[in-house]
Amino acid sequence: MYYADMKRWDVANGPGVRVSLFVSGCTHHCKGCFNKEAWDFCYGKPFTEQTEDEILRELEKSYYHGFTLLGGEPFEYENQKALAPFLKRVREKFPDLSIWCYSGYVFDKEILAQMFPKWNETREMLDCIDVLVDGRFVEEQKQVDLLFRGSANQRLIDVKKSMETGDVVLWEQPEYVHVEVKENPNEVGIPPETSGK
Ligand code: SF4
Repeated sequence: MYYADMKRWDVANGPGVRVSLFVSGCTHHCKGCFNKEAWDFCYGKPFTEQTEDEILRELEKSYYHGFTLLGGEPFEYENQKALAPFLKRVREKFPDLSIWCYSGYVFDKEILAQMFPKWNETREMLDCIDVLVDGRFVEEQKQVDLLFRGSANQRLIDVKKSMETGDVVLWEQPEYVHVEVKENPNEVGIPPETSGK
């Protein structure tokens, strides 16, 4: 697997401060995609054991709330093969961190109905993921004020509750989740070397 970017201090893709990994490879080709370079499965850098270790080391810092996987498409089977064992490592080492994943595939109709019965990797990934943001980006349904997603068809799904109940259960934002990024990142404790200043 290849990845396009690994972001520290990400506050846009899930609650709190997160490390985000943008993997390469996506076959959806949504109109208006924000990240077309990442359609190519060989875009960016190879995802190696060193990359995994670097992310795990970064997540040790106490200010992180979680880890987010984006793309590209993390649920392309080729990517699942690398991500399933890696997510297991993240979950084992950080049982209390929240793990979010963005996928263009629809949770119930595609991931659960088609991939889940076929592939161990899908089951292993879903075991580790707390919230799945599902569905392709639909330009006609784009809204800039949606929480953690780009178009109104996409859903924030509580994976564990959905698996337990057999229904699609939407994630509910806890009261305490509110991150305000001030003009000067140093005021919220962002170290100068990661603040871009
Ligand atoms: S699923 Fe995401 S990365 Fe893939 S084409 Fe759609 S918007 Fe782009």
